[in-house]
Amino acid sequence: MKNKTAKRSVIKQEVPDRAPKGWAGVQESIAQSSGLALLLVDGYQPPALVVASNNSICNALQSSPDYVGLCDPYCGAAHSRATGANAIVHYRCHAGLQCFAMPVEIADQRGLAVIGGRAFVNGSDYQELVDRFRTGDLRELASDEVFRNIIFADEADLDHAALRVTRAAREFKQAEPHEAPGLETVRAEIASAPLKEESELASGDQIKTSDAKSENRRVPLADSIRTFAEHIDASDPAQTYQSIVAESADLLKAERGSLLLFDEAANQLTMRAARGIPTPVSEVNPVNLGDGIAGSVMKEGRALVASIDQLGKTAMPERRYKTKSFISYPIAIGQRRFGVLNLADKIGGGAYDASDLSIIELLAPQIALALERAEWQQRANQFQLMSITDPLTGLLNRRYLEARLTEELSRSKRYDYPLSFMMIDIDDFKFYNDRNGHQAGDRALEITAQCLRAALRKVDVASRYGGEEFSILLPQTTLQEAGVIADRIRRKIIETNFPHGSSQPLGTATVSIGLSSFSAQLDSAEAIVRAADRALYHAKRHGKNRAYAYQTATMRSGEHAANSSQ
Ligand code: GH3
Ligand code: MG
Ligand code: MG
Repeated sequence: MKNKTAKRSVIKQEVPDRAPKGWAGVQESIAQSSGLALLLVDGYQPPALVVASNNSICNALQSSPDYVGLCDPYCGAAHSRATGANAIVHYRCHAGLQCFAMPVEIADQRGLAVIGGRAFVNGSDYQELVDRFRTGDLRELASDEVFRNIIFADEADLDHAALRVTRAAREFKQAEPHEAPGLETVRAEIASAPLKEESELASGDQIKTSDAKSENRRVPLADSIRTFAEHIDASDPAQTYQSIVAESADLLKAERGSLLLFDEAANQLTMRAARGIPTPVSEVNPVNLGDGIAGSVMKEGRALVASIDQLGKTAMPERRYKTKSFISYPIAIGQRRFGVLNLADKIGGGAYDASDLSIIELLAPQIALALERAEWQQRANQFQLMSITDPLTGLLNRRYLEARLTEELSRSKRYDYPLSFMMIDIDDFKFYNDRNGHQAGDRALEITAQCLRAALRKVDVASRYGGEEFSILLPQTTLQEAGVIADRIRRKIIETNFPHGSSQPLGTATVSIGLSSFSAQLDSAEAIVRAADRALYHAKRHGKNRAYAYQTATMRSGEHAANSSQ
């Protein structure tokens, strides 16, 4: 698909000058952690005052003078509907996206509303829209951009996000006018504090739950896509391969499936996991690049959705497929080729089509990442002599971290992914050791490692950098998202019962955290580590037990190299 929108005139989506100062960061945090789009509006939309994590479909439709009219009766009119009712309103738009709009007052600014969600709550709505882009009225608008950020959610997620926004608006204080431009405080505590759902629902002045049933409604596709990455991430590579086949097959209702990995040196694909295939995986012969279906799919880098008849009889081996319909999908990121995922025999007998393909397209980056982690794990297993874990804490060690950081960084450069990094140092640890003994100190290091594991996502790479310093590599994570995670870690440490925590100078065991993010200025592993170190140093100087983010823009002034969240 080509990007056809580039040539057309584009409608402005945002007028941030009119928004309460500092709200953008709060809204972004909530949007990121809830996985939904949020827009602050003061009238007819577009433009909004602030847009966070927008669904790329909405962005495409509303940027285009030819198509924005479709959205007018929905998001266009949402502000007046919500302010007119003085209550939250729910609607499902022409694109099948579930949304809410609710009036808010932020820092004494009235007449505002937040539109939220813009999420598919079931798979058929999504497939219907894909069809409109493929062959229907939205054909002209189809581009790669349109599918860049598709949002899936449960209706309950929308309610939770609405609650968070209500509370954040209530607690929001406008940023001081003298605050340096470009400095956005990481207001993680607002976005990630646990919700007291029941009581908030009862007391939340603007929230009216019009549909009580929505709380318990689970949506299989939305759930599956959201948890897919978690399910396919196992510590054992063989398990990862098997889960990729099983999870993808479940999602696409395939009775058969297989995963073949590409060995660059041998120029061959080897089957690593399968479901519903009678021959044991280890007995299936490798396929040369270019040979057979999988071999040519890998070589061409293009997926194939077809029926066996379409290919002619000779193309398929003697396997007895039931429905003859299959998908063969190349797993690759840019030039990096990981392998091929095959799915066949749709349960119920239907044929696979482009809408099934678009679902795999959403999952493919997660599959590629999981395969990559598995590859590292495989390498680590092969070189057991070269230890990659720290024996005391069980975390990865500095050597692994540095190698991994270099690799993730080159990927971020190539594909323009964000990447963040954290340096964590236990506060007053010498005091802890001196007062309680070295063994107690070791125990505290172990507990700290447990806290990190509990607070992190599976994709994050936690390591013991040395002594009482830990570092976290956060692939595909913005500085803002990392801020939310840093705050979670900091709070987890405070909430955890360390045996001698109460005699620490701050009355409890605490950590300080420095954050940095890959940018044009911080584009080497050394620079990223150094920047996080500097931010950590600021956190220590400003009283410890806090997280500071290194801001490239402030580097020149040299003074306030970081922002804090405490
Ligand atoms: P700050 O709050 O500024 O970080 O002060 P601090 O006391 O934590 O920092 P400092 O770097 O002065 O002290 C770190 C201490 O960590 C020194 C050393 O005794 C202790 N340490 C380093 N590695 C280990 C270890 O493996 N086990 C134990 N028990 N202690 C360790
Ligand atoms: Mg230290
Ligand atoms: Mg320390």
